[in-house]
Amino acid sequence: MSVVRAILNFLYEVFLGCSHQHLTRPFTLQNETYMVCLDCGKQIYYSTETMRTLSAREVRRMHAANAGEVRLMPSLTGRPALIPTRARKPDAA
Ligand SMILES: [Zn+2]
Repeated sequence: MSVVRAILNFLYEVFLGCSHQHLTRPFTLQNETYMVCLDCGKQIYYSTETMRTLSAREVRRMHAANAGEVRLMPSLTGRPALIPTRARKPDAA
């Protein structure tokens, strides 16, 4: 039944839109603060500075800013992590 409900919620979201009335409290993960809609699962980004939700433009800007940070997370693909352009050059170079 939960699968059927999920599908119905998905279709409702696609065709009618979700009003996102049932949200979790804002929480922060990896420098991003957002609430999650309990109906459709959408992440609603939220600013702790302005105490309101972010617009699509603000979300893009936040993602761009976060992407510029150095991340020391292990890569699942085994490829080396991105090296920031401002990284210090090795002495032997
Ligand atoms: Zn929703």
